[in-house]
Amino acid sequence: MAKLILLVEDNMSNRDLFIEILRMHPEYELHVAESGLQALEMLESFRPDLILMDIHMPEMDGLAVTRAIKSTPELSGIPIVALSALAMKSDIKSAIDAGCVGYITKPVRIKKFMDDIKTYITN
Ligand SMILES: [Mg+2]
Repeated sequence: MAKLILLVEDNMSNRDLFIEILRMHPEYELHVAESGLQALEMLESFRPDLILMDIHMPEMDGLAVTRAIKSTPELSGIPIVALSALAMKSDIKSAIDAGCVGYITKPVRIKKFMDDIKTYITN
């Protein structure tokens, strides 16, 4: 059975890119939210195996969405990986502090991205 991934990403070109990459991998089924609020709504009835969380989003940023998920007992076990163009140590630390299990910098390199997904989903 395909592993379910929820991508939370406000930027359309980035969404299209991730959809394109994951389309080549039938072992994963990608679901997409365009905002943090939409992601939280989806999670009321959907339990993905992994969440890919853009950090920079308007209204509710990825750190706030991650904190909300991690403070909800039914959702707190879902691994969340941060996606960001920033790769300063302090950015990574903020994501880990918010509850992310890992950090992927954009633009992604496809091979490394797929390896990372595999690692975070099985962990
Ligand atoms: Mg963004």
